[in-house]
Amino acid sequence: MTDVESSVARNGVELIRFLWVDYNSITRGKAVSRQALSSRMRSGVGLARSRQAATLLTDRMQHVPEIDAVGEVRLSPDPHSYVRLPHAPGSAAMLCDLVTLDGKPWEACPRSFLKDALAAAGDLRVIAAFEPEFTLCSQRPVQGSLHLFDDALSCDNDGFEAADDYLTDLVRGMREQGLAVETCHPEYSPGQHEVTLRHGPALRSADNYVWQRVFTRGLARRRGLWATFAPLPRAGLMGNGNHLHLSLWREGHDGEEPVNVFASPGDDLGLTDLARHFIAGLLAHLPALIALTCASVNSYQRLLPGKWAGAYGTYGPDNREAAIRVPSTLADDVTGSTRIEFKACDSSANPYLALGALVHAGLDGVRRRLDPGEPLTEDPRSLSDSELRRRGVQRLPRSLGEAVDALERDEYLTSVLGPYHSSLYPALKRIEVHDMAAAGVDAEFFTHAIRL
Ligand code: GLU
Ligand code: MG
Repeated sequence: MTDVESSVARNGVELIRFLWVDYNSITRGKAVSRQALSSRMRSGVGLARSRQAATLLTDRMQHVPEIDAVGEVRLSPDPHSYVRLPHAPGSAAMLCDLVTLDGKPWEACPRSFLKDALAAAGDLRVIAAFEPEFTLCSQRPVQGSLHLFDDALSCDNDGFEAADDYLTDLVRGMREQGLAVETCHPEYSPGQHEVTLRHGPALRSADNYVWQRVFTRGLARRRGLWATFAPLPRAGLMGNGNHLHLSLWREGHDGEEPVNVFASPGDDLGLTDLARHFIAGLLAHLPALIALTCASVNSYQRLLPGKWAGAYGTYGPDNREAAIRVPSTLADDVTGSTRIEFKACDSSANPYLALGALVHAGLDGVRRRLDPGEPLTEDPRSLSDSELRRRGVQRLPRSLGEAVDALERDEYLTSVLGPYHSSLYPALKRIEVHDMAAAGVDAEFFTHAIRL
């Protein structure tokens, strides 16, 4: 019996969900019974290819390149991603790769794209953490209204008091399923909270982020509450970010500890040249990356100056308006906590595509030994447009349509994405842009608040 099967038997699990994350960051899948588990672990579960071609607003299969009503793939589960669901005690779940009938990764599989990106790092290991924020509501939103769960101030102890039962259930559930929670705090906006997880190997961190969202939403729903990771669930709020923290490590040899090759404690930013080249790679591909990290129409209501969302195309030490922040390190582990934080990312981004694209872009900078220029040490809002231009601060795309244009212009990123992702993804996003514009802004807020 495998570990998964024995956990299923021991814990009285009846349904095991085989899940994947689609281009809109919706977690989808099919479930198998415990009797079918053993054979389905090997053969997977069939899925129409067109399931990867749905938009957020309509969920209808779209007429896009590479996809029509013909053709199947398999949901092939990764046993390392197995969790029991704290909000659904009879159920467990695994994250899946989308594979072709002959068992190869399907070219439109986001999780396989991340695996390829990690392989492209050669003997360097990518260590990552996702930092999602969410808005807690006292009931499921209806179009035109969102009832926020609390009106606490940012970091206000009242926010802990209001949500204590829920938050302690959540962090307990996460801990019991092996998710290493680090911190939790009431965020800037009413009803907004943030729970952070410890960094770890990139694929594991991406999987754990998916579980964090599933648990957060599931536990809220069980209490009659609603949790949304929408970039901006309502006008006038601060947005929900999902910052990505990244560093590259080299395996230690002969029993030595692994080494963070981003860390150079004597340097003014605490960074190595390699880290600077990596940042320069991100900056070189920034507008195109935004299509993958700010992946919804709604993202661009968050990605604005003054929202600490990283709306300026630059980098700087502890600079919360810069797309790339170089965070100050922790005193008890300066080297280990050296990293970069990509702030211009939210939870409408598929985590595997977003992280994989950042890795590829950064590695391109390393290969070409690109120079990121001087870091920005001031708040960019205090600088005039001409001063921002003089300092090389890029203007980021202001809409999903603009970001998709930039992605299609970026030859390097479209080539590493491959023909499937790079044709299917922009085509779907353009349909979304069109449909959301026709539906209007209330429908946009509502759709994102209930789906994400
Ligand atoms: N809520 C901000 C965002 O949308 C982030 C605030 C913070 O720095 O944690 O990214
Ligand atoms: Mg935050």
